[in-house]
Amino acid sequence: MSDHYVKVKVQLEEIQFPGEETEKDVEVVAGLELSVSSSSSSSSSAPAAATSVAQDGKSRNDSGRKPISKTRSKSRGKPLDPGRRSRSKSAKDGTQGVASVNLQEKMENTACTAERLQNPSSNEAALEIKGSGKVLQGKAEQSKGQHGKEDGTQVQRKKRSVTVDSSKAKTSLEALKTSIKQLKWKEFPAGRRLPCDIYWHGVSFHDNENIFSGQVNKFPGMMEMVRKINLSRAVRTMHELFPEEYNFYPRSWILPEEFQLFAAEVRMAKENDSSWKPTFIVKPDGGSQGDGIYLIKDPNDFRMLGSAHNKPAVIQEYIIKPLLIDKLKFDIRLYVLVKSLEPLEIYIAKEGLSRFCTEPYQEPSQKNLHHVFMHLTNYSLNIHSGNFIHSDSMNTGSKRTFSSILYRLSSKGIDIKKVWSDIISLVIKTVIALAPELKVYYQADIPTGKPGPTCFQILGFDILLMKNLKPVLLEVNANPSMRIEHEQEVAPGVFEYVPSAVDEEVKVGVIRDTLRLVDPAPRKATNNQLHLAGIASEMQEDISDAGSSDKSEQDSGVKENNLPSLCLKQVFPKYAKQFNYLRVIDRIAELFVRFLGVKGTMRLGPTGFRTFIRNCKLCNSNLSMASVDILYIDITRRWNGMGAEQRESGMCLQAFVEAFFYLAQRRFKSLPLHEQVTALADLCGAAKRRAALAACQPEGIHSVPTAPAPPHHFNCPAAASKSADYRFHRPVLPTIKGNCIENSAVN
Ligand code: ADP
Repeated sequence: MSDHYVKVKVQLEEIQFPGEETEKDVEVVAGLELSVSSSSSSSSSAPAAATSVAQDGKSRNDSGRKPISKTRSKSRGKPLDPGRRSRSKSAKDGTQGVASVNLQEKMENTACTAERLQNPSSNEAALEIKGSGKVLQGKAEQSKGQHGKEDGTQVQRKKRSVTVDSSKAKTSLEALKTSIKQLKWKEFPAGRRLPCDIYWHGVSFHDNENIFSGQVNKFPGMMEMVRKINLSRAVRTMHELFPEEYNFYPRSWILPEEFQLFAAEVRMAKENDSSWKPTFIVKPDGGSQGDGIYLIKDPNDFRMLGSAHNKPAVIQEYIIKPLLIDKLKFDIRLYVLVKSLEPLEIYIAKEGLSRFCTEPYQEPSQKNLHHVFMHLTNYSLNIHSGNFIHSDSMNTGSKRTFSSILYRLSSKGIDIKKVWSDIISLVIKTVIALAPELKVYYQADIPTGKPGPTCFQILGFDILLMKNLKPVLLEVNANPSMRIEHEQEVAPGVFEYVPSAVDEEVKVGVIRDTLRLVDPAPRKATNNQLHLAGIASEMQEDISDAGSSDKSEQDSGVKENNLPSLCLKQVFPKYAKQFNYLRVIDRIAELFVRFLGVKGTMRLGPTGFRTFIRNCKLCNSNLSMASVDILYIDITRRWNGMGAEQRESGMCLQAFVEAFFYLAQRRFKSLPLHEQVTALADLCGAAKRRAALAACQPEGIHSVPTAPAPPHHFNCPAAASKSADYRFHRPVLPTIKGNCIENSAVN
């Protein structure tokens, strides 16, 4: 370990977040500490051939890649077919006997009863958040799925291997196999006749339609929600409610419908400030790996592209002052686990990747606008630059660990705990923005009361640090590449896949620890350990071998303790107190789902909308049922006219949210929008409680109606000036010189 690293490590160990006790610091900084050792160990032990810079192309098109060696010329954006691979031998497939299933049920029933009696422990923690002095106060939910050193009460026991169906894992397969091996679980590479505990999909929830139990590593609708347009819409809605909190996403316009608006806004802003010389980045909606992306300086440049502006895309303000290292632009790929939507549980991997450009950065000008190696950090593009550096260390080259960047910044005296804390805030807020619509998808695919799996998902967050160290969200990937090999040009034009130590270090840790967190077994074990230890050993004998049947390996209770501590850090509900006030759209989505009526649908019909209005008693002398109908038709028609894909009838959640905002503005004038909306949500909640109470009470007794919670601040001039006409309220428009990213305010 170099002197510098020792110094930084000591520095990091000394970091103490405001209001936090030393013991708790370890948790927050643990990733950094972990990474110091990993960096040093890797640099000494990793074989040179295996530590070159790694493939991290986004895997929206991963599914199509096959591990076949292929010769091709260096051409941008074309998928490279893998060549040499060191595939681990697949575990043999097999089936388990019926007897073991019965026993499993017995075990599960016992465990469930015990779980209800459980009283999980928690510990407090705090983390500084943006806006100086504020700290994230949190209750760390003790992960029930956690093994190992953290669980001091773990009883040495024999337990059933957790079963994982890896038949749909696609390009995550290698990392998944390695993780399953490390956990000594049982893999079913060709699927299994009996249900598995965990199903690992490479693309979407629907990769396998016949799952009625267990857990799937994809949420229904996640792929759709993180597409560029939908992500922009979701963040924009939150920005409208909480402009200060949602200022981490570049101002964006949705094409084609907002092109005129974009052009008008730019023109007006330029008229007001002639020194303003913006740059914009155009991104096709379904694009990935930098495909189809380009920069423009003016809306007219875009018009000149002819039919291009009819295609769905996002046009976004370009961040012209990114933080540079070695004069190069870079971005950060962080892995985030959404372990559950209800209740919301979010984890962030303490280690990530940094992907570097390969041409020194200059602020965009007409001359350099087309220099992709200068402006786009995508690995899949930069790998084709002659300047790409395949490094044998995790701290140098064109792809590095995120912690190595933090060390570098820390050595320059930068407050890295604030950077990390801002990133955590960004992640939590983004998931909060996505969650409401995901819940609508979820109930449509897995209706309550019907047999179905539960879901979790690893997301890839792409984040850019601005020169002023403010993190900016670029995009969220539903299928981040989990490849642990990278392409190497072994002869001119001949590319092969070889193992990559950087990717393995980061990605295997993320998959393995995700599995540990969703492990169904420890929950049962910790609840009723002694009783279950007996049953488990009984089961151990009963389980027929499913393939990779090394009995000593299945007897893994003790060996699991040798696993490293979790690389995933819980951030929600740990910091729920600081963020729960943002979850207003969640409440609107709950109402939406309540009035959907038909299970499995995602669109509200006119009757459902009327029922919502009636149940919440929103009609009065100012709002007749006839105007409610007009409101429904108008908003629904407009939303259904947007985008090529949205041709379904009925009101989608986003349209319902718009109607809800409109109703809230009419009802609670002179308040800031988020207070208007919260007050209306309170009113609807109170109506529901009243109805429930009335249904329970004997005739003749009447409850006192519950008043909605009083709003906090009155007479906000900003809110008073808001139009109460919903047609003027939407679309929510980004203001060019607004309070989003201070693109030109830095330096
Ligand atoms: P893709 O899914 O095609 O990779 P991204 O949104 O990730 O699309 O953009 C590709 C790259 O372009 C990013 O990795 C980043 O380097 C750059 N980029 C994207 N948006 C911006 C922006 N608003 N400002 C500056 N650079 C950006």
